[in-house]
This record gives sequence, structure tokens and C-alpha cells, in this order.
Amino acid sequence: MQHTCSMCGTVYDFVWKEGTPLPKNFPFCSARCKAADLAKWLNEEYTISAPVPNTILSDTEHEILAELAELGVHTDDDTD
Ligand SMILES: [Zn+2]
Repeated sequence: MQHTCSMCGTVYDFVWKEGTPLPKNFPFCSARCKAADLAKWLNEEYTISAPVPNTILSDTEHEILAELAELGVHTDDDTD
């Protein structure tokens, strides 16, 4: 099965059987693209809105932030 990465535009193959969870990084080609998109999204959110208390973040979002940190993606960077 082929899919175009929503982040970098790369067309990549992924294995997925109907009825099973989608690939972990879907719709992105890699964890890095997924993290980059999330970081971008988070940056925009934090730029537009007032500072968000940590209590608003769900456990899942904390996991995402931890994952971003592991990947070396800093959500407060402005490297564009
Ligand atoms: Zn990609």
C-alpha cells in the first residue's frame, strides 16, 4: 500500500491490514515527520493562544512531548 507523507510529501509503502490499527506514524512516513508536524502544530497553538497550563495536556500529549524530546525536536524552536 502506498501513501504520501503529509509532512514531507514522500510517497512511501506501508503495511496495513484492514481491521488492525494504522501504522504508528500514519499519515507520515517516519517518526521524525510525525514529530515535526506535531511540533509545528504545537508551536502554532502556543503562539496563537495564551500560555496553556500543563493541566490541560492529557497524558497522551505528555507522551507526545516526551517522544518529541527523545527525537530531539524542541517545540519551542523557530527554525523555519
Ligand atoms: Zn515524511
